[in-house]
This record gives sequence, C-alpha cells and structure tokens, in this order.
Amino acid sequence: MKKDILSKDQIKHIAKLANLSLDDKELQIYTRQLASVLNYMEILQEVDTKHVPPTYQVLDRTTNIYREDVVGECFSQKEAISQGKKIYEGFFTTRNVFEEARVGNRTLEPSQRKVNDKYNAILTTADPKGVVGHKDLFMTKGIETTAGSRVLEGYIPQYNSTVVSNFEKAGLKTKYKLNQDAWGHGSSGENSDFGPTKNPWNTKKVAGGSSSGSVVVVATGKVDVATATDTCGSIRMPSSYCNVCGIKPTYGAVSRYGVIAFASSLDCPGVLSNSVENLQKYFDLISAKDSRDATSQSESREKKMGKLKRIIGVPMEFLGEGIDSEVKKIFLKAVEIFKKANYKIIDVSLPHTKYGIAAYYILAPTETASNLARYDGVRYGNDRSYFGPEAKRRIMLGTFVSSAGYTDRYYEKAARIRTLIIRDLEKAYDIVDAILAPVSPIPPFNIGEKVDDPLQLYLMDIYAAPASLSGTPSLAIPCGFTKDELPVGMQIMGPRWSEEMLFELGEEYQKATQWHKFRPNSKEMIYDKNW
Ligand code: GLN
Repeated sequence: MKKDILSKDQIKHIAKLANLSLDDKELQIYTRQLASVLNYMEILQEVDTKHVPPTYQVLDRTTNIYREDVVGECFSQKEAISQGKKIYEGFFTTRNVFEEARVGNRTLEPSQRKVNDKYNAILTTADPKGVVGHKDLFMTKGIETTAGSRVLEGYIPQYNSTVVSNFEKAGLKTKYKLNQDAWGHGSSGENSDFGPTKNPWNTKKVAGGSSSGSVVVVATGKVDVATATDTCGSIRMPSSYCNVCGIKPTYGAVSRYGVIAFASSLDCPGVLSNSVENLQKYFDLISAKDSRDATSQSESREKKMGKLKRIIGVPMEFLGEGIDSEVKKIFLKAVEIFKKANYKIIDVSLPHTKYGIAAYYILAPTETASNLARYDGVRYGNDRSYFGPEAKRRIMLGTFVSSAGYTDRYYEKAARIRTLIIRDLEKAYDIVDAILAPVSPIPPFNIGEKVDDPLQLYLMDIYAAPASLSGTPSLAIPCGFTKDELPVGMQIMGPRWSEEMLFELGEEYQKATQWHKFRPNSKEMIYDKNW
C-alpha cells in the first residue's frame, strides 16, 4: 500500500466508525503511524493463501454455553447500576442517540489528570508466601480494577475473576493490583496510562510488557506469585526482561472469566514465579475448566517425558537477521545445557515466522476494537475520550482492517496466515517434543527509546507470535545476563496441553543452572513517580 492511500479523511472516517474523536495533532500522527504499520502488513500479500482455510479461533469445539434456566444469585438493581456515572431514578442515563453524538461528561483535560501511584497500595500485610499480586486486568471484587487505563479509573468490580477466586480459595490473599500496558497493549510496560514500569535490574530500562508490574513484584521478592496474561508475549517478554519464570498456558487451559478482554481468540491468563517448581504449583491452582468461559477446556496434561523422543528443535528462522548477538550467544549456551543432558538438538523450520507479526497486528487490533467498543462511559467507567494513544491507535487499526472493502486484504488474509503458522508448528512437533527459542530479539532497552515508532515495538513480538497464534503453551525462564547485567530469557514451547512436559524440561534446566536465582539489587522501582 502506498503511504497516501490512507488519507486524513479516511482516518477521520475510521475514527467516526470507532466512536473516537481526534484532534488535529492526533489526526496527523495517526495518519503517519497507521500508514507505516499498514505498509509493513503488505508482506502478507507475498503468501499464496488461496487454498488455505482461515483460523479465527484455535479450538475446534467450544462448550455448549447454555445451562438450565434456574434462578441463581444475582446483583441487586442498586449494585448493578452502582458504577454508572449518571443515574436517574434507578436507571443509567445515556446520551441522546438520535442526534449527532457528543462526547460528554469530560471533567478534566488529559494534561490536568493527576498521575498517581495507587497501583502498589498494600492491601494486606501478610508474608510473600500467603499472598498474590494480580495484573490489573483481573477483576477483583471491591478493589479498583483499571486494566492500566484511565477509562476504567475508579471502577470497582462487583465480582472476582475465576483466577482470583481460585487463589482466594487456596488461601492466597490479594496483596497488589499491578501496573500494566493499558488493556494489555504493549511489550515494554510503557503504555500504562498511569506511567511506565521501571526494570528493577536497571531503572533506566523498560520492564517488558504488558504484565510489567506483575514481573517486578516477583523479581523483587514481594510476592512468590503474580498473575499475568499473554496475548502475544505479555507473560514471556517481561519475564525475560526481569529474570522471572512465567507460563503462557495452552489457550483454554485457564478461564478468561472476569479477565478484561483484549483479543479473545488469543488471551491466555497465566502465572509468574521465581522457579519452575513454584510456577507449576501455582499453575495447578488456576488451570481448570470453568463453565463461565465457553473456551475453557480441561484436557489432561499427561504428556510425560518418558513417552517422548527427547528431541528438541531450535528454529533457524529465529536466529538470523534481527537478533542481538549477545542474546543469541546466551541462548545458544542454554541450548548446550540440554545437549549435555542428552537431548538431541535439531534445527526445525517455521517458515512462516516472518509473517507472524503482521498477522497478529491485524487479528488482535480487530478483536480489541470490538472488545473496547463496550466502553462508552454509561454503565461503568469514563467515556471514550479517556483512551490513551496506543488504545486509540489499535482501535483505529482494527476498525480499518476489518471494515468493508478491506477485510479480504487484511483480516481474512491474516486468519489464513494464522493457519499456516499453526501448520508449521504441527509439522515441527511431529518430529520434536519441544522447541527452544529466545523470548525477545534484544535485551531490555531504554524507557522512551521506541515510543514514537509503534512498529518498532510491534516487531519485538516476533518470537512470541507462533505460540500465541496457535494457542500452544510456552514456558519462559531466565537463561543468562548481558555484559550490562541485563537479564535474557528463553522460551520452551510445546504442543497444546504439554505444560507438564515444559515444566519438566524447565526444572531440568534449572537444576543444572543458577540463573533464576539472581535477584535485582534495587528496591521497589516499579513505578516512575515523576512521569
Ligand atoms: N506485545 C503484544 C501487543 O502489544 C502482546 C501483548 C500481550 O500479550 N497482552 O499486542
């Protein structure tokens, strides 16, 4: 696509479709940035997908979501409307939908909105073992839940997400609600509307995102476990940047009920801890079928190493252009550990890797544009003028690539490429048990370094995309440090429901190495108070 194909008028039209109002400056910036992202997506056109069916959802079956029509517990009317901004005689007040929509109820200009650091408020004082920190995407009954966005500032959920309930049932109290890139949009932790998260290993560096606050409380030993979500790397990327272990589960293994939706066909809630052994323990608390989530499944996670081939693949496409030389060296040393433990290491090819980012950044924004359409400031939360720049960018991108006349070129094409990426992995897993790969092509970078160029940030997710698009699990664990003492992580990927095998491989690696035992010296630099 030529740069001028997406004109300012088109951007205005997309904004109108997406119910966003943009000022002139935003219009100019988004016109440039979206053109650059769409130009990049042209890469997909080189793949012939004529005979490839699209994948919109990795599950071949979803549970019947209907249940017996029995009266159960529900909110009182008072509770149900308690989060509305304008209530009149027991009803929500909405704007007049028959006139041209006006963006109302705005109380403060964005520049006047106060930055606060409520995220790290200590809610209980129990010891790190009896407590858990939750990414702010998880609904916590009675505790403010914002998804890192000003749109939900002040929103108090009336119920817990299933993951939060499961932790409570196991006796772990909620200690933190943790900073994150707003709505899960980001790889660096800089897209929170409440300020970026700093990396405790070097506070000039990003912590990785989007589950940035969650990894920091684990890395600094404030909790033994924190929850996080991974739509395309948000558990693995920050784990790698802060020397933490994280599991991105099989899609459907952990309930999404009560987790604020980003891209529903990709969202995977999971956990973070300081060792694989602990991670497995906490994962067991949350991986269960939940009748409240139609995509929740419960296969057995029985694949044991004994039955396996002891062959591990390393995808050659991951180690070519674009990977930092230190990261590559550190990763290859980690591969050696498995070789020494008598695993056969072979090259595997995932030829569609290079299309993963373009496919993901069409599919995920389409889904997020739809999911974020519900935030209208009527029943709860603030109005749409409170969306931050990255959310607006994604809503606009998703609205465009799925709009009439463009779906075949973008959304449908990306869904077909998703099928090819899944097939690449299936082929590889016919030969190998697991795949080893770096998590990020580069070590943690400086805060602010890439914020003006969204495409550069999107490209960070290149190694995360295959597991996410295919709904397969991936375990991220520490595997070394750069000369500048910055952590580097690797991921062990496996077929659907192979978590047990991934944990065994991870534990074997951690028995032979010490990397996961290192802790940052700095104290609590989760938040930049001067932002
Ligand atoms: N980095 C990816 C994005 O910005 C994925 C984030 C995530 O996994 N929530 O969309």
